[in-house]
Amino acid sequence: MDEKLILDGQKVANDVKEGLKPRIAVLKEDGIIPSLATILVGDDPSSATYVRMKGNACERLGIHSQRIHLPKETTTDELLQTIHELNNDPTVHGILLQHPVPSHIDERAAFEAIALEKDVDGVTSWGYGQTALGFGLYPSCTPAAIVRIMKYYNIEAEGKHAVVVGRSPILGKPVSALLLNMNATVTTCHSRTVNLPEIVKQADIVVAAVGKPEFIKGNWLKEGAVVLDAGYNPGNVGDVEYESCYQKSSAITPVPGGVGPVTISMLLKHTVDAAEKLLEAK
Ligand code: NAP
Repeated sequence: MDEKLILDGQKVANDVKEGLKPRIAVLKEDGIIPSLATILVGDDPSSATYVRMKGNACERLGIHSQRIHLPKETTTDELLQTIHELNNDPTVHGILLQHPVPSHIDERAAFEAIALEKDVDGVTSWGYGQTALGFGLYPSCTPAAIVRIMKYYNIEAEGKHAVVVGRSPILGKPVSALLLNMNATVTTCHSRTVNLPEIVKQADIVVAAVGKPEFIKGNWLKEGAVVLDAGYNPGNVGDVEYESCYQKSSAITPVPGGVGPVTISMLLKHTVDAAEKLLEAK
């Protein structure tokens, strides 16, 4: 890359969605409307916004959105029951349980209850394991979005040192696995990492997945690093300090308008993929 690039997530998301339109049309000719069920438990306003955005994005594209909103008092057993019903409903192709659920619920048990073929956000241990081994159908949507942005902009991973800051099961760990499978040399950092700025300084590619606003500073970066910021914090700021990181980087995702819109488009894509799989199996 010769000049600095702002990695436009909206453009990438539009590209993904345009690619889905003819596929959805073919499914409809065969009598199948791709369908995503979203489950929101409780009243967390950010979670409610994310679920609404996902549902609206489905409907704009002709994907059916079944929105299930359960009260915050819902027990683990009740949530598992809802998931089992969706697993057994042949008109539902993808299931998304919005994270986090209220703390009294066993979130891991709920994730594990999602049928693998409907696990369009890669939250089950089977889905995660298959992603890590390189043959997963549906990696978590944000890691998948990061890879999609890299591919759209021809950002090579092979032989590069990628430093991922964060190791959550839905983001840091799966994106580390995907980058490793793309032949990057990957370092995954976390809250116990010692000398984080020095490690980030070695990175050709930095993935920010920390959940702390403007945490990664420009003076931590090697000149010309590619910065992929998955963070989304109150006030519309990412996990990197944008201005200083922009100065040092060769390419950077903005917040908003970077990883976020592509994440939603990957959820739509995985739902269409799942509907097609069902048709193939018929
Ligand atoms: P998370 O579950 O809270 O994980 C945060 C990770 O950051 C943990 O692995 C934690 O380490 C690490 N960390 C925390 N403080 C650190 C420090 N001082 N130094 C180094 N590492 C540190 O968060 P998440 O769900 O992965 O989300 C991360 C960010 O991505 C958030 O801003 C979230 O809003 C955003 N996000 C965006 C999208 C999207 O569509 N754009 C989707 C999902 C999430 P430990 O493991 O040691 O605790």
